[in-house]
Amino acid sequence: MGDKLDFIREEMERLRNEGLLITIRRMDTPPGAWMVVDGRKVLNFCTNNYLGLATHPRLKEAAIKAIEEWGAGPAAVRSIAGTQRLHLELEERLARFKGVEAALYVQSGFCANQAAIPPLVGPEDVIFSDELNHASIIDGCRLSRAKIVVYKHCDPEDLEEKIKEHLPNYRRGLLVTDGVFSMDGDIAPLDKLYEVAEKYGLITMVDDAHGEGVLGRGGRGIVDHFGLHGRFDIEIGTLSKAFGVVGGVIAGKKVIVDFLRQKARPFLFSSAVTPADTAACIAAVDLLEESTELVDRLWANANYFKSEMKRMGFDIGASQTPIVPVMLGEAPLAMEFSRRLFEEGVFAMALGFPTVPRGKARIRVMNTASHTKEDLDRGLEAFHKVGRELGVISG
Ligand SMILES: *Cc1c(COP(=O)(O)O)cnc(C)c1O
Repeated sequence: MGDKLDFIREEMERLRNEGLLITIRRMDTPPGAWMVVDGRKVLNFCTNNYLGLATHPRLKEAAIKAIEEWGAGPAAVRSIAGTQRLHLELEERLARFKGVEAALYVQSGFCANQAAIPPLVGPEDVIFSDELNHASIIDGCRLSRAKIVVYKHCDPEDLEEKIKEHLPNYRRGLLVTDGVFSMDGDIAPLDKLYEVAEKYGLITMVDDAHGEGVLGRGGRGIVDHFGLHGRFDIEIGTLSKAFGVVGGVIAGKKVIVDFLRQKARPFLFSSAVTPADTAACIAAVDLLEESTELVDRLWANANYFKSEMKRMGFDIGASQTPIVPVMLGEAPLAMEFSRRLFEEGVFAMALGFPTVPRGKARIRVMNTASHTKEDLDRGLEAFHKVGRELGVISG
């Protein structure tokens, strides 16, 4: 008889053989444009610190002050004794910033999807979900036990066909889509999806984790980008990416947010976010409301990087945002490319199956406002060198 854990060894061996085993690197410094990673100083294109807020003095100061005033942790779930004034203040500020009636702050973007979806739909209902939706949306959908119907990526026509086919068999329907797709950097056609969903009376939900602080006026997100204020029922966001801290937000109609305060399981059964994190998030909203400078710089950097990559002959897929996928095909090539970049002092992640479909492995570059022109040129130079060396580009 074999060891009961042999299945793990076999699966790990399989991942290793297929070049799918992920290397988990150790960060030795905070997430800036340059970081020390596994003891080596490298140019960082991996973190989601779009606006450089993770290390911003105003956020650090707010966090330290909150610890002095409030202590380290809230020691309770939100619904019992964990709702501190800071949480309510952040929720009001986020609602105002985004131009919605109400907002609920939860532990993470991942939690936000688990919090929002199951109370809205159950086994008698149907969810229409984009085929490339984020894992946390997929898990939130599964937890609801509703029927999940997957429509073609960013395809309102396919959505409509699927609605016609399935909606009559169910009590109610929910449309859910990523706003910005984190693996490709493309943007959901929210206006067209909304039109279809509205026609059939679906509840509408968008997860704007990579659009929060990036898209829309001064980073107000994807609903603002499309001018759909008051139309989308629920906007999920994260405070862990552009906002530079940690946490998730569910923003939208007051009737929904009030309902979720009664029903959302991460809100009811998992402790509230710490005062330090909450206060730092408030400081991030302050900064975004004061100036669009960081958002503007982020886009200028991204546009420069993308046009130079294209000029060199790289395939950067369908990117419409500061997320730049450098399409390479097979996972072992992407891994090798990433490893060589690291040797050249550039930290950019290789993504393979199951994070992206088989045969669509890539390097993903995350642009930020923290990079200088010299940093970007340094990164481009490394891409040029490794790209030629590995036969990806010819120039
Ligand atoms: C990153 C991401 C999340 C998770 O957000 P966290 O705050 O890191 O938990 C959720 N949804 C989407 C679409 C994301 O890209």
